[in-house]
Amino acid sequence: MNLLEKFKLSGKTAFVTGGARGIGRAVGEGFAQAGANIVIADLDEAESVKTAEFIQKEYGVKTLVCKTDVTSPESVKALIAAIDKEFGRLDVAFCNAGICINAPASKMTYEQWSKVININLTGVFLTAQAAGNYMIEKGIKGSIINTASMSAHIVNVPQPQCAYNASKAGVIQLTKSLAIEWAEHGVRVNCISPGYIGTELVKNNETLIPLIKTWNEMAPMHRLGEPEELQTVTLYLASEASSFTTGSDVIVDGAFTCF
Ligand code: NDP
Repeated sequence: MNLLEKFKLSGKTAFVTGGARGIGRAVGEGFAQAGANIVIADLDEAESVKTAEFIQKEYGVKTLVCKTDVTSPESVKALIAAIDKEFGRLDVAFCNAGICINAPASKMTYEQWSKVININLTGVFLTAQAAGNYMIEKGIKGSIINTASMSAHIVNVPQPQCAYNASKAGVIQLTKSLAIEWAEHGVRVNCISPGYIGTELVKNNETLIPLIKTWNEMAPMHRLGEPEELQTVTLYLASEASSFTTGSDVIVDGAFTCF
């Protein structure tokens, strides 16, 4: 097979949780450029519809919006059923929805802790489990990509975010566990660990906005990453190009975690 052919996703179906905006939207656009039909699975239905319409118009692929809460097994089940009905296949799952709550560990409430763990870790488990089971049942040699973070590798400073850091470390070990269990079925499972990326998670968070200058001073490249800078790595992981890559975590952080 021609090298560039290996990156094509034509005729494939990909879902993206948290796909309405930010990293999910950019990665969904990347998959669409490679030819995949895109399912936007997000809590924000109105924004999802706008994103889906844009992707369909811009890249000429089919799109589906499925309002999904990744913390709800019923909602995730409905997502898979909708994909099966519309496309009859699922090749790529980008389990990406996530939130961050900043609070010192001493003051973090049970509700804050649970919310972060439920969305960032349990949500990834539920969506990856549903995708993996569907792929195995259908005999599809699919690719599951989870969003971890550089916060799985380092403790961010100065903002306190212990629940977020713990949830993302969990995502990496979950990814490796699933990769081992599903390797025999040809289902690959990898994750990405982005550094600070200029999305609404960062730019709309009043606690974080004043910190962007501090992070940029600390960062070797002195800037935030752009969501689009995650398109190539996720396309690699989603496609045949990464046929021997499973159980891996790819750090994309402009060397932030190198020292
Ligand atoms: P955004 O906040 O821009 O987008 C996240 C999307 O996920 C939103 O549309 C949000 O919907 C949706 N969402 C939230 N909760 C749920 C849920 N329970 N079920 C389904 N969808 C949900 O975030 P980013 O694009 O910045 O982040 C995407 C992922 O990347 C997250 O896992 C994040 O932790 C990770 N990441 C981000 C980094 C960054 O610097 N931005 C760095 C490293 C990792 P709604 O608006 O309705 O809440």
